[in-house]
Amino acid sequence: MSLRGLVRLARRNGRIAEPAPPPPAHPAASASDDELSGQAFTPPAALRGSAQVRHVDAGSCNGCEIELAAAFGPVYDAERYGVRLVASPRHADVVLVTGVVTANMAEPLRLTVAATPRPRVVVACGDCALGRGAFHDGYAVVGGVHDVVPVDLQVPGCPPEPDAIVAALRRVTGR
Ligand code: SF4
Repeated sequence: MSLRGLVRLARRNGRIAEPAPPPPAHPAASASDDELSGQAFTPPAALRGSAQVRHVDAGSCNGCEIELAAAFGPVYDAERYGVRLVASPRHADVVLVTGVVTANMAEPLRLTVAATPRPRVVVACGDCALGRGAFHDGYAVVGGVHDVVPVDLQVPGCPPEPDAIVAALRRVTGR
């Protein structure tokens, strides 16, 4: 399609992103104000407003990845809240992990988190990452993400919906 055709299409369709839900509660709010999972979480002050995210698939069925892709797609548009996917943990503030941790991925996950500069946030995304998914007792499974590295935020669901993933990341940036 030509550039002119693209511009015409964009004008005709208008904005397709979902309306933004209200911003997350202020970090000073009590844990009981947390609507996501009941977890007490205070984001590092340095990450307020903007955070770079490195995704690690530690043993997912790829269902969570489809929802993660949707979270960063044009409808849910996570980037409008200051989060961006990056390719290297050395450029990241957040390590977002999907899937159970398989034996082959335990050490790479440890190394990825270790390579992420502090202050950093580790997000376990999906029931498998929380250690209670369909594959938790598989022969090649070490456990949930919390069995391998410390976890700061959890996003339950199999798979979690894109707006739940976006809500967790908004808690980091506060936007
Ligand atoms: S939580 Fe569900 S969708 Fe996500 S990796 Fe596990 S089985 Fe797949």
